[in-house]
Amino acid sequence: MADLRFQRNFGIAAHIDAGKTTTTERILRYTGMIHKIGEVHDGAATTDWMEQEKERGITITSAAVSCQWNFPTEKGKVTGDTKKYAFNIIDTPGHVDFTVEVERSMRVLDGLIALFSAVDGVEPQSETVWRQANRYKVPRIGFVNKMDRSGADFLNVVKQVKEMLGAKAVPLQLPIGAEDNFKGVVDLIKMKGIIWHMETEGMTFDEIDVPEDLKAEAEEWRAHLVEAVAEYDDTLMEKFFEDPNSITEVEMHEAIRKATIDLSIVPMMCGSSFKNKGVQTALDAVCRYLPSPVDIDAIEGINPENGETISRKPDAKEPFAALAFKIMTDPFVGRLAFFRAYSGHLDAGSYVLNVRSGKKERISRIMKMFANKQNPIDFIEAGDIGAAVGFKEIKTGDTLCDENHPIVLENMFIPEPVISVA
Ligand code: GDP
Repeated sequence: MADLRFQRNFGIAAHIDAGKTTTTERILRYTGMIHKIGEVHDGAATTDWMEQEKERGITITSAAVSCQWNFPTEKGKVTGDTKKYAFNIIDTPGHVDFTVEVERSMRVLDGLIALFSAVDGVEPQSETVWRQANRYKVPRIGFVNKMDRSGADFLNVVKQVKEMLGAKAVPLQLPIGAEDNFKGVVDLIKMKGIIWHMETEGMTFDEIDVPEDLKAEAEEWRAHLVEAVAEYDDTLMEKFFEDPNSITEVEMHEAIRKATIDLSIVPMMCGSSFKNKGVQTALDAVCRYLPSPVDIDAIEGINPENGETISRKPDAKEPFAALAFKIMTDPFVGRLAFFRAYSGHLDAGSYVLNVRSGKKERISRIMKMFANKQNPIDFIEAGDIGAAVGFKEIKTGDTLCDENHPIVLENMFIPEPVISVA
């Protein structure tokens, strides 16, 4: 059984053009799944993807793409040890027309990277997605991209997130250098400067002392951060009053994690996915602060036989229950139904009950989508996301479950269509 604590189901939400594609490519590249990368601006990446899509029926626009991230453990900071985290990145469409699709993906993810452009800040689509994330109580971290662009202003975006989105946005970093000269960040948890270098095989960094000219500002923002999360950790609170310098990194991470999952704060980071600065740091933050499937409450549903409310824990030993959130047609395997398994275990080749149609259907294959290949898997368990092949009749929003333990998962909220009056 997979250890669900090391699994993250998250999405990247952004207004169009903020850099979601570039960021996703960086993630897939540095999680070792893509070995060639083109930049979006010259069209190479797009063509590359379209070619791959033609060849293998796979695309970055797949409803969910899976990869692994080697998270440096505490010990690993010295020894280089890492812990593998399994990521399922769920697509949240960036165009306003896809609002309903955003609702669907928001329903099945556990956390979100809200991506903003450092130049354009909070834009209309960021607001729409933000409201949807609020509705589903999705914990999120903010990534302010395009720090290399002229006019980039991290703290102004933090301010906009507070004022326009009503969130307690708390910086975890301060940028070092700006625009062409954007080099790295002051890490307000370590109180060190991090200077990123982009290299062909990945990103490396140097740790430096906090630059003199940023010291006072960094102290101020660190105090703000500690204050924002102190109530989530008693020891941290005590130290906050007695000796803030004695607060350890681990205590800080833990308090930030609790506050983020509790929707009390939105930790804010920055970088440039174009220059590959900060993306890997943001992935570490996904592991540290966003919830795993076991941090989420048991999911509730209705027993269709007697109308009673029942719940299912994220545990492979519970009866199987899953929600189909996107149906796509793949030129090679045909109809693919993307689903999130909330509880239980499902073997490829076995049967599930679709409660809406009342039909028992055989899932001939279960697939996982990686950046450049799709892999059939033998089974899927609670907390994971996969795509089923073999359904004769299926719609998004359908609950799939064990026929002996039927459940209808809470209906997906679909907003009323907006009728514009000319
Ligand atoms: P999406 O619409 O959110 O998926 O945005 P894209 O990833 O397609 O990026 C939109 C444009 O912004 C492309 O021309 C990218 O090359 C560019 N871009 C993305 N990230 C950055 C960045 O960090 N810095 C700069 N200067 N340009 C970026």
